[in-house]
Amino acid sequence: MKFTLQPKTIQTAVAKLKFRTQAFIDGEFCRSSSGKTYASINPANGKKITDISACEAADVERAVAVARKAFDDGRWSRMKPSDRKTVMLKFVERLEANAMEIALLDSLDAGKPIYDCVNIDIPDTIHCLHWHAELIDKLYERVAPCGPDSVAMIVREPIGVVGMILPWNFPAQMMAWKIGPALAAGNSIVLKPAKQTSLSALRIAELAAEAGLPVGVLNVVPGAGSVLGPALCRHMSVDMVAFTGSTSVGRDLLRYSSESNLKRVILELGGKNPQVVLADADLDLVAPHAVNSAFWNMGENCSSGSRLIVHRSVKDALVEKVIEQTKSWPVGDPLDPKTRVGPLIEPSHMETVLSYIKAGHKDGAKLILGGHRVLPKTGGNFVELTIFDEVKNSMTIAQEEIFGPVLSVIPVDSDEEAIAVANDTNYGLAASLHTRDLTKAHRYARAIRAGVVSVNCFSEGDLTTPFGGFKESGFFGRDKSSYAHEQYTELKTVWMQLG
Ligand code: NAD
Repeated sequence: MKFTLQPKTIQTAVAKLKFRTQAFIDGEFCRSSSGKTYASINPANGKKITDISACEAADVERAVAVARKAFDDGRWSRMKPSDRKTVMLKFVERLEANAMEIALLDSLDAGKPIYDCVNIDIPDTIHCLHWHAELIDKLYERVAPCGPDSVAMIVREPIGVVGMILPWNFPAQMMAWKIGPALAAGNSIVLKPAKQTSLSALRIAELAAEAGLPVGVLNVVPGAGSVLGPALCRHMSVDMVAFTGSTSVGRDLLRYSSESNLKRVILELGGKNPQVVLADADLDLVAPHAVNSAFWNMGENCSSGSRLIVHRSVKDALVEKVIEQTKSWPVGDPLDPKTRVGPLIEPSHMETVLSYIKAGHKDGAKLILGGHRVLPKTGGNFVELTIFDEVKNSMTIAQEEIFGPVLSVIPVDSDEEAIAVANDTNYGLAASLHTRDLTKAHRYARAIRAGVVSVNCFSEGDLTTPFGGFKESGFFGRDKSSYAHEQYTELKTVWMQLG
């Protein structure tokens, strides 16, 4: 993205923003059936950004009917793959042309630093859609080795109508991770963005329509999860639900599916991710990765490395470097290009994070940095980057997902203990491992029970690699890569007897 990130340019662009505030169904914006709205609040100052249509079950009903019709008549699902690819590439072009607008919408809505939106979230969003578009006409199907008297084709078909439920922490990017492979595979979609962050989803759906995505293929219904989630996930005409969010809501969705039509459910859930630092690690290399892992996106990141499990012999030296690095992450207005840490999503979430900090004190962990709300006069939900030392893995702050800027340093005395502590969690989303020893790197990367293990860095891989969790961090699904594409398809056998 080619932008000069000057505060003045940003403010001018914000002033010019036009918000899409209504549901997007059947190719057009429309009021919710009840006419009700809710306020979308800027987490950096507590002020209303705009009012958004509050959809209800009747709107889900309409959106699903539209998506069903679009799927069944084949306007997208049976389009020639190369033509589908052409439309998706035009969609990518529309996104590129409007990238700064999407970056600003996510920054305003979610409190994400504009620096991150411009440099990470939106480029990744565009790249993701581009990658899945390019895959469309490069996939071949299979013929089974069944002998001369029959022909058996094993083909993949789009699954049908896919309901999508998204979180608020990476609004545009999570949308792309889901709609990219689902659209590429030929499905129709009813998408529910997080209530707090619907603006970019509504604009992205409009851009897709402008690019020529047939009407009814991508519908967006903003509103409360507790209302729309069950309506979507219990719906008999929805063939699949793809969800990213908390483990507790994920459990509900499995129940809704089992109580309705056994639709496929894929869940990308929470994490309590370990960063394991062995005694031989290069601490200068570890420190910036450790800080990025713990505090990027205010720690509101499912793969945040919130447990720093470090060999006691190097713990103090590493902690010193980590504190030093942390001080170079300015907290403040997300629209200031220098800001690396914005506000938390909403006051209630800030209170939850502060209550975890209290629990850390109470359990006997040693607070060595931060620990307080800051910048209260802004009206924003800002919390200092916070580090506890001498944390035991059994403490609440080491077991529960805080989803905020709180890092627990857990000293250990051996490699074996480090791996055991890393795995001593109900979650299994991501992990990092730091060592100069190649053998240990290989062995321990395999020993850690997580969907992604990054060695000598903090990384979720790139678009070519699947992302998803073990244990209570996920169920069945993976985002990104051709594995994501496959999960939005059904496998069919066509058996032909030859005369
Ligand atoms: P959340 O579960 O509260 O909400 C996620 C979505 O579910 C929202 O759209 C919400 O409106 C909806 N929802 C709420 N109640 C519902 C219900 N009863 N039925 C159906 N839908 C309902 O999670 P959140 O607070 O938005 O996001 C934070 C969580 O998401 C964290 O646990 C985080 O780890 C996880 N997350 C995981 C990944 C991943 O890829 N594994 C990525 C980002 C976030």
